[in-house]
Parts: sequence; C-alpha cells; structure tokens
Amino acid sequence: MEVETALYIVPTPIGNLEDITLRAIRILKEVDGILAEDTRKTGILLKHLEISKPLSSYHIFNEHQTVKRIIERLHNGEKLALVSDAGTPVISDPGFLLVRECIANDIKVECLPGATAFVPALVNSGLPADKFIFEGFLPHKKGRQTRLNILAEEERTIILYESPHRLLKTLKQLGESLGTDRIALVARELTKIHEENARDTISELIKHFEAKAIKGEIVIVVEGKGK
Ligand code: SAM
Repeated sequence: MEVETALYIVPTPIGNLEDITLRAIRILKEVDGILAEDTRKTGILLKHLEISKPLSSYHIFNEHQTVKRIIERLHNGEKLALVSDAGTPVISDPGFLLVRECIANDIKVECLPGATAFVPALVNSGLPADKFIFEGFLPHKKGRQTRLNILAEEERTIILYESPHRLLKTLKQLGESLGTDRIALVARELTKIHEENARDTISELIKHFEAKAIKGEIVIVVEGKGK
C-alpha cells in the first residue's frame, strides 16, 4: 500500500502574493495543522488565502526542542505542513532537522515545488545555469575568507544570499578574492514592485550601489572562474 504523506513542505511567496500554487493552497486547507517560522507572518498569508488552521511555531531557536513532539504528532496520524516566512522552507530556512527526523522515522515527507529566490535570480543573470552552486549566506566572520578563497576557484555560476546592509562589503570582498572584472547580478526585491536586476562587472556594481541607499532583499549571482 502506498504510504500517505504526513509532512508537506510548502513554499510561500517571496514578495508577490500571487506566487503560491493551487496545490499549496489545497494542501494548506487539507492539513490538520501548520508549522510556521513566524506564526504572525503566516497568519497574514492564511488570512489573505481565507484559510483558518491551527499554527505552531517552528523556527531556528526551537527546532531542536520541538522536533520530537512534531514526530509524535505525525506518528499519531496528524498531517502537517511546514512553511517559512518566504520561499521554500529548508532553503536557508529552518526545516532540515525535521525532514531528516521524518526520514529516520519512516514518515513520508513531500516538498511542493514553488517560490524560492535563487531560481529567478539565476535565470535573470543570463549566466550559465546548466551548472551552478548555491552558497546561501556567507559566514559573517569566522570562515568567511576561507569560503571566498574556495569560491575564487569555482568554475560554476555562484549564487549567494545577502542582506542589504552587507551588500557593499560582500561585493568588495568578492572583487578582492574573485576579481573585479567578473560579471555579476544583484537581484533585489524579486517579484516586488521595486524589483531591480543590476547586471554588470563587480567593480561597476560597487559604484552603482555606493551611489544609493540599499534596501530590500538581495540575491547575488556571480560568474564562475573562466577556464
Ligand atoms: N527560503 C527562502 C528561499 O526559498 O529563497 C530564503 C530564506 S532566507 C532566510 C532570506 C533571503 O532570501 C534574503 O536575505 C534574500 O537573500 C533572499 N530573498 C528572499 N526573498 C527575496 C526577494 N524577494 N528578492 C531577493 N532576494 C530574496
């Protein structure tokens, strides 16, 4: 007999509320409860979708403590959905521990395809997308230069997540380690009203972003090392 899915990983919009799939909406309506990174933010989305469901919080500060209880709930036959604040849970977001525990406990997990920030950024970059690496956020201090040194030798297109207040620092360090002539894309506020896709050499991007206040959410895509 086919085992039924107990935990659904459900992507939510990264800005534009239209970017939620019909299946995601159906699953959110069908499950017994929703595990949310921020119950208040998810509450706003559910209200918009006219869905009323019990919410429990599941975030990086409680995931170790709550995983066991969630596994019990799933074993007891509850069907749950995991959502994060935006995009696909687990991708630079909480959820990995829970997926791993479900697998260890023979609980069927299913991730729905849907919104995530790095895919539109990669495609908008016009850089080779047949092979790429997703680096997520660089470490803030310890290990940062080591990662940059490794990235300097990387031949595949490189994708990074960054916060607006660290963008210039990161672009400058990418320039120092990878070379300022590399082509890069800074994708800002994807899917939102003020979406910007700035594509240029790292040196020109530094000038561009030095000339204005940097706001919003950011993905950086950098050309890999030439052969
Ligand atoms: N789970 C999310 C996903 O699937 O993309 C990522 C969550 S991570 C905590 C948040 C980071 O994703 C932001 O700092 C930014 O780097 C990137 N991001 C999320 N939404 C974005 C958007 N609308 N435009 C550009 N970058 C975005």
